[in-house]
Amino acid sequence: MTQTFGALNPTQRVLLGPGPSDVSARILRALAAPTLGHLDPEYLTIMDETRQMLRQVFQTKNEMTIAISGTGSAGMEACVCNLIEPGDEMIVCVNGVFGGRMKDVAQRYGAIVHTIEAEWGRGIDPQQVAEAFKQHPRTKVFGIVHAETSTGEQQPLEEISQLVHDSGALLLVDAVTSLGGIDIPIDGLQIDACYSGTQKCLGCPPGLAPVTFSPRALEALDQRKSKVTSWYLDVTMLRNYWGSDRVYHHTAPINMTYALREALQIVLEEGLAARIARHQRNHRMLRAGLEAMGLAYVPQHSLTTLNAVHVPEGVDDLAVRNRLLQDYNIEIGAGLGPFKGTAWRVGLMGSSSTEQNVMLFLAALDNILRDGGLGIEAGAGLAAANAAANESEVATA
Ligand SMILES: *Cc1c(COP(=O)(O)O)cnc(C)c1O
Repeated sequence: MTQTFGALNPTQRVLLGPGPSDVSARILRALAAPTLGHLDPEYLTIMDETRQMLRQVFQTKNEMTIAISGTGSAGMEACVCNLIEPGDEMIVCVNGVFGGRMKDVAQRYGAIVHTIEAEWGRGIDPQQVAEAFKQHPRTKVFGIVHAETSTGEQQPLEEISQLVHDSGALLLVDAVTSLGGIDIPIDGLQIDACYSGTQKCLGCPPGLAPVTFSPRALEALDQRKSKVTSWYLDVTMLRNYWGSDRVYHHTAPINMTYALREALQIVLEEGLAARIARHQRNHRMLRAGLEAMGLAYVPQHSLTTLNAVHVPEGVDDLAVRNRLLQDYNIEIGAGLGPFKGTAWRVGLMGSSSTEQNVMLFLAALDNILRDGGLGIEAGAGLAAANAAANESEVATA
């Protein structure tokens, strides 16, 4: 018996979680363009243009800059499995979910993993890095998360990059929640391998993982004694598909490439610096508003793209998130790991990072929390956010 379900009709939400973020109409139109064959000369041009724009957004000259088919986690696996051979030593920094995931992935590909840990919501100290290299001088790859979406903590990379290179290791960075929202200059920071995802600060639907490999990383790849353990993510083969040889490897997700091309075009039209400043400004407004309402931030150095705050004492985490969704169409994220049930994660990424969304969210939260009888002064958050907006205008004038 056939069974059908009526027309597909998803609600238009305001996506203020840890990703996906709102997708602009321009990008949705790009997705709906006619599907080309994946070796059609027109599509090959689109791939080349996408690569060129990816290099600009990654701020790199790296030839090997492509989009892996799959979400951000596929980018993580691609970086790890190409650089690691079974038995290689890798240091992974763990201060949240995604550092923990990188460790898991590295172990699955046979790496001997040494971890550097910090409390969730705190950064990794360069001193710990220096210590770790002293103990493990044969380390081949050093992995770290730039924007830890589970805690909202931003990790400075300058000093750490120096230490990694002094020891001769390769620097692998997770930039899933920073690329297109927070400055992450690949060449400037001497990053050897970096991955991101389309659905966070680039404002696309999920489905592709931009990655970039430095010439040093490619040298390490060329010196492998064994084949890359993953067939699908093997850059030695992907290189021939994205390069001039165009050797068939797997069918690229054609329409997602259109979407990414459009997203990169939008980023570059806005200008990387202006886009980063927009994320900073909207974060400042949200932060001023939330703090005026008595909410405390989880991280020591908050990302501008993700705001993790403690759920106030006596407030039902799930009830508030349900009301945000049902009454205001707003999605925010729940806490992860040790913050399950005790933190909210409010994303302001890509197209979602607007003054309108900051005001809408603060007004909605204010209503909901006042219904809970928490003694929050009506409108305090909005007033503080407004004041912060005016301050930053003066500051940038
Ligand atoms: C979202 C995220 C990932 C995983 O990306 P998916 O697209 O969910 O596979 C990895 N690292 C960080 C820091 C993230 O925020």
